Amino acid sequence: MRIRQDREAQDIYLGESSRLRLFHMTGPKHSCGVVGMYAAYNVVPSVHKALRIIQHRGQESAGISVFKEGGILTVKDSGLVQVALNRRNMEGLEGLCAIGHVRYSTTGNKGAVNAQPLFVQTTNGMIAAAHNGDITNYTELKKKYLDAGWSFLTDSDSELLTKIMGKHMTQYNDPVKAIRSTMNELDGAYSLTVLINDRLFGVRDPYGFRPLCLGRVDAGYVIVSESAAIDALKGDLVRDVQPGEIVEIKSDSFKIYPAPAETPRAHCMFEWVYFARPDSVIDGREVYSVRRRIGEILARESPAEVDCVMPVPDSGRAHALGYSIQSGIPYEEGFMKNRFVERTFIMPDQKDRENAVSMKMNPIKSTVKGKRILLVDDSIVRGTTLSRLIRMLREAGAKEVHVRIGCPPIVAPCYYGVDMKTRDQFIANQHTLEDIRAAIGADTLGYISAPGLVEAIGMPASDLCMACINNRYPTNIPGETHRFQSKLNPDFV
Ligand code: SF4
Repeated sequence: MRIRQDREAQDIYLGESSRLRLFHMTGPKHSCGVVGMYAAYNVVPSVHKALRIIQHRGQESAGISVFKEGGILTVKDSGLVQVALNRRNMEGLEGLCAIGHVRYSTTGNKGAVNAQPLFVQTTNGMIAAAHNGDITNYTELKKKYLDAGWSFLTDSDSELLTKIMGKHMTQYNDPVKAIRSTMNELDGAYSLTVLINDRLFGVRDPYGFRPLCLGRVDAGYVIVSESAAIDALKGDLVRDVQPGEIVEIKSDSFKIYPAPAETPRAHCMFEWVYFARPDSVIDGREVYSVRRRIGEILARESPAEVDCVMPVPDSGRAHALGYSIQSGIPYEEGFMKNRFVERTFIMPDQKDRENAVSMKMNPIKSTVKGKRILLVDDSIVRGTTLSRLIRMLREAGAKEVHVRIGCPPIVAPCYYGVDMKTRDQFIANQHTLEDIRAAIGADTLGYISAPGLVEAIGMPASDLCMACINNRYPTNIPGETHRFQSKLNPDFV
């Protein structure tokens, strides 16, 4: 789903010649999570539970569609799962097969109009679809269908793909053919769960940008963005949905419709670095283990003489632990995090934002005072929160604050479902390492290298999307460089 950016700028002056523009935002936001389940009993409570487990992938709206008595019923609204799908509006929503969605901000308002699943009625029945990703040829496709006389309620690529699926369902009266024909029209990132009448499918784009996995649960099967939800349902992870596959599930079986052709893969490296839950397994790699390995490799690549290793909670925890284990330097928790404070970028002025950060994080003085600290975080996008945390540590008595980052510098936009859309929002885009170190106020700054990150994830670089750190895009994006353009392919792809 396409998304909007919410940000405000703060200029930081570096002497006479240079200036950094930092943006107030707590970190990149994901743009959705999906689930689909088919079982021999009412699956709605389980789908609701799975959505709560993947709530981190989208907090602005939630919805469930269920096949019941020959029709598809949908409940969706803005807010967290427990607000949008509350006891009152869920009454009577029950059935053996259902899909669900959690969403992060889109173009347009954040309300129910943009909530998913989306629905379309065809002459051959009903379709409800839930989408995680971004369709990169959205503009061309939308123009094509507007020219053909179609109309749209939203500015959402998810609405477009659902309607295209409806067109093919009308044409073929065959759900698998309708989905495959839709895939043939789409470029970009999409992990989908789809209800076509009483048949339930999981679909992953041919590059496999966003995760999608299949699990066996009591008397049924589930398809979901992250395997942690399968654990919560007391099920077993069966396999990842492979790039380009369509998987149909029933209560007692599943069927794979393989990708018609082998295509290069492009799994989003940021899922392991930051987005996914540490307890999820994505494409065979447990997220927590990858993050620990990132920390170990960081310790090798970027050593420091310090008294303790400290995470930025919660995102840098596994990375910091790996660094500590590899280096032998003690691990300490340096901040108490208040989980009940909202995001800082919506605060109207600088003073409010400062107050919000100090309400959200408070240093634990006994672990900080007089210490040389190595602060570890997963990534730097804008650098604002990190600079405030460093200042807090110094105010609490830290002697030195060194920073290590578990992702190479982010310099380029994402077109595949993450809200990093313009180059000017990245602190690393036009500034040197030394500029960034000075701007955030660290004594030293080190990032893991790109080959180090590839080693930590443990799959070939050619199977990963790393476009936001190397400017080489796995699909054709107007104005951007494709990773298979030979003249720009020297280090790794
Ligand atoms: Fe992930 Fe970056 Fe590629 Fe986007 S550009 S899919 S965030 S690796």
